[in-house]
Amino acid sequence: MFLIATYFCLFIAPRRLPIFMLSDSLKKEIRANYELITKALPQFKARKAQNYLVAEIAKVLAGNYDKSRRILVAEAGTGIGKSLAYILAGLPVALRLNKKLVISTATVTLQEQLISKDLPFFLRHSDFKFTFTLAKGRQRYCCEHKLLNQQQDESQQTLLFTEKPQPGDSELLSKMRNAYLDGKWNGDQDSWATPIPRRIWQQIVSDKHSCKKALSNHRQCPFHRARDNINKADVIVVNHALLLADLELGGGVILPEPDACFYVLDEAHHLPKISRDFSSASVNIKTSQDWLKKIKQVSTHINRVVHRQTTITPGLTMLESANEMVNDLQAIELYFRHNPLNYNKSNQYRFPMGEVPEGIVNALINLKEETKKCLSAVNKLSTITSEELKDANIKLSDAEPILIETGFYIQRLENLLALWKMLLKDRATHQAPIAAWVNNENDGFTLCASPLEVGGLLEYMLWSQAAGIILCSATLTSLNSFDYFMRQSGLKNNDGTQYLRLKSPFDYPAIPLNIANMKKDPTESGFDNELIDNIAQRIQEKQANLVLFASYWQMNLVADKLRRKFPKALLVQGETSRTKMISSHKKNCDLGLTSILFGTGSLAEGLDLPGHYLTNLIITKLPFAVPDSPVEEAHAEWITSRGGNPFMQITIPEASKKLIQSCGRLIRKETDTGQITLLDKRVITKRYGKSLIDALPPFALNVEK
Ligand code: SF4
Repeated sequence: MFLIATYFCLFIAPRRLPIFMLSDSLKKEIRANYELITKALPQFKARKAQNYLVAEIAKVLAGNYDKSRRILVAEAGTGIGKSLAYILAGLPVALRLNKKLVISTATVTLQEQLISKDLPFFLRHSDFKFTFTLAKGRQRYCCEHKLLNQQQDESQQTLLFTEKPQPGDSELLSKMRNAYLDGKWNGDQDSWATPIPRRIWQQIVSDKHSCKKALSNHRQCPFHRARDNINKADVIVVNHALLLADLELGGGVILPEPDACFYVLDEAHHLPKISRDFSSASVNIKTSQDWLKKIKQVSTHINRVVHRQTTITPGLTMLESANEMVNDLQAIELYFRHNPLNYNKSNQYRFPMGEVPEGIVNALINLKEETKKCLSAVNKLSTITSEELKDANIKLSDAEPILIETGFYIQRLENLLALWKMLLKDRATHQAPIAAWVNNENDGFTLCASPLEVGGLLEYMLWSQAAGIILCSATLTSLNSFDYFMRQSGLKNNDGTQYLRLKSPFDYPAIPLNIANMKKDPTESGFDNELIDNIAQRIQEKQANLVLFASYWQMNLVADKLRRKFPKALLVQGETSRTKMISSHKKNCDLGLTSILFGTGSLAEGLDLPGHYLTNLIITKLPFAVPDSPVEEAHAEWITSRGGNPFMQITIPEASKKLIQSCGRLIRKETDTGQITLLDKRVITKRYGKSLIDALPPFALNVEK
């Protein structure tokens, strides 16, 4: 979040990588292990595309194409077996070059598959000797010190633990404590059998600001054991958010240094959006004023424990700056109160071209300065406390609440500073502006900002720093080109990055893609009624049907009309949990009954219904996203301001990716069959329609008459 404001002006140091070409012995090792692995896989089918992918990954990481920029963007269609390919090629090159293989995913499902299936399988059946681990954020681990001391030290719990304890909380805490002491629980939140309520977890969670790894009796705590495992492991599985968190800290804090890592970014099509969300910031004015007013407690707590003159100046600066900030925030609040804005139905008002209103600019400039001063003062107070503890002038039990408390303020002040920097970013450049807006809800005004483009940030933090990177996904192209992904991610055609597109081995021409002969298109009135009749006719008896809608509203409308016709078969997203819905669907299919899943866009990605679990796929509407979020609106506005066409530059490429993903639900395995029907005639009546069809796998197109 904080790098975004500064990375533009920083020098990007080039990496020095060892020169290493793919040797014959390494090629031989990869080939031998390919044999071992594929022999152990039941029903394995050799595929040229997979072999090619293995070779390209190995060549790119070994520096055969470009010694200083070892990046491959590989679109590997469903069924190629990309995880096998990147482990098979990435692992031996990483081991030879003494690098770590960091595999980052967007979803928990893929993470689990790698940790519990793919990597153990490689370990069992290949010749590679390696260790692997799953890297999680600090907040997933309990702090041993807090867990073991929390009962004795209840009086020390500070203002951070604001939620009221519930009956049974202390029993649960002692149960966890005993389980930990008996070696039955390892302190990992995810390995506790039942969900741990937030208010309880907050009391024992590991927290960077109060962490005392330097104390010898703390070195074996759950969090540090997990970090030691990361340092020792050859393969580290992580998610994109944690990877970005590490890179934001400069790399090498949670994970090994970027230049010691070969990264595999699986599900890489999610990376630009995750990076953008990661870099955004928001500040609720009233909440900030509330905690800033309480900051004087820091001084009170410190003065009670630390008896040093050096705390006087930072203590005073902290109080003065916090007061100033409260006043500036009040001025901003008053501005929004007295200058009514044209809020949308989500109670948001976006500032055109990211320019904040002139009336709050001075307050923001002052806030930025005062936040810096306050932050530096709180940091100073925290350092003094740590030093006093180190010199044994104060007890750990006295220092810890202060360190937690100062940590709390440091985090929030850093968040404020990141927002002020974004809102005041110099617009006089050719770079994309930020999206900036204000939310006006019950809890008052919230100022928000998000970058529009993260390519520069990714270049600065990742592309230019890593030893090597493989980006892969089944959908990295849009409209048959990598251009859109390149624009989003900051990668270029001529920067040394390699691009590879491998077609899925599935027999797509055997699958009919029907374009229904609809009278109305989705923008015309009467479409909904036509949709209801059409879907009713197209549901196949004793088959697995999936109908994908563009909105919950439309899905519920059709579901209400068809419920009487299909009382037992109809399963509607949102009416029960996703897991329950899919399991009922599979049960229906296994019994040979009609099953109908109704879902929206979120079901179009990641839903795995192989074989008889899906044979009839109906897509009601082209998945055009309505650019109604402030970030999307701002992006469209910026493209328009540069003479571009946001519909062609954002909406169509995004729709193309989503349509491919939606169609991809039908064919999960080589033996899968069935049909797809699209109920949106714009795909043949509009000019852009052809490019959407051309970007799909080569289904047997059937335009119904
Ligand atoms: S090292 Fe940090 S996380 Fe671990 S027990 Fe000590 S304070 Fe807690």
